[in-house]
Amino acid sequence: MKQNALVTGGSRGIGRAVCYRLGQMGCHILINYRSNEDAAKETLEGVEQRGGSGELLPFDVADGQAATTAIEKWQQDNEEEYISILVNNAGVRQDNMLMWMNDEEWENVMDTSLNGFFFSTRTLIKQMLTKRFGRIINIVSLSGLNGMPGQVNYSAAKAGVIGATKALAQEVAKKKVTVNAVAPGFIKTDMTQDLDEKDYKSVIPVQRFGEPEEIADLVGFLASEQSSYITGEVISVTGGLAT
Ligand code: NDP
Repeated sequence: MKQNALVTGGSRGIGRAVCYRLGQMGCHILINYRSNEDAAKETLEGVEQRGGSGELLPFDVADGQAATTAIEKWQQDNEEEYISILVNNAGVRQDNMLMWMNDEEWENVMDTSLNGFFFSTRTLIKQMLTKRFGRIINIVSLSGLNGMPGQVNYSAAKAGVIGATKALAQEVAKKKVTVNAVAPGFIKTDMTQDLDEKDYKSVIPVQRFGEPEEIADLVGFLASEQSSYITGEVISVTGGLAT
């Protein structure tokens, strides 16, 4: 049976590369995004050009009601199908030193990464358990493992998802649902466009930023049947930056 994969934040960056990878593996891709419809349509075109299929599924991952409604409507419209792969990728950065951080900067980042993980995962997990197969892959960050100054909000949100990954993995393992996290270092996307790669070369052993595809390849493996004995893990893809 063709698998359905929901990729949150699939319109751009790492999420787009993941959509392409999973599409090439034969999955039908549900491309989630919040507001950038043009970019999401470009992702869908890219999936189709690579021989895959997909559709757009916009909702704000931070809005529990919106997430549940959109996902449940898809499930009602596709009764014979279920979403067996969930990639919780949507995320935002709003950096500031803690002493100057306002409520909005804290909440936006926590709501998108941590609450976003919760709402989408809770909505999809029951069917994965009933069908006895599921793959949940959470895109976290080196910041969530090491902590990064200027990113107390982001580090806390990603560390929260790492804890949730490890706990949920144990809840659902016996039903053949795996839950893993991928922790990228610096990857070339809109999120890092304000950073100059040259300034970081000396601290990254591989001496460059990563490409979104280098994250997507690992996500593809974790989404595949071959990864069935890997669960509760956080796998770093950082070009050698120490975790
Ligand atoms: P981008 O800024 O390039 O893309 C972010 C994506 O998330 C977009 O598709 C955006 O949709 C979507 N998004 C943001 N907020 C929401 C929301 N509330 N609801 C639904 N979708 C939303 O980010 P990256 O590709 O760089 O990052 C992807 C993930 O990887 C994030 O979780 C990030 O924290 C993580 N990461 C990235 C690193 C990097 O170096 N780039 C390093 C470590 C981790 P829209 O187009 O509609 O705005």
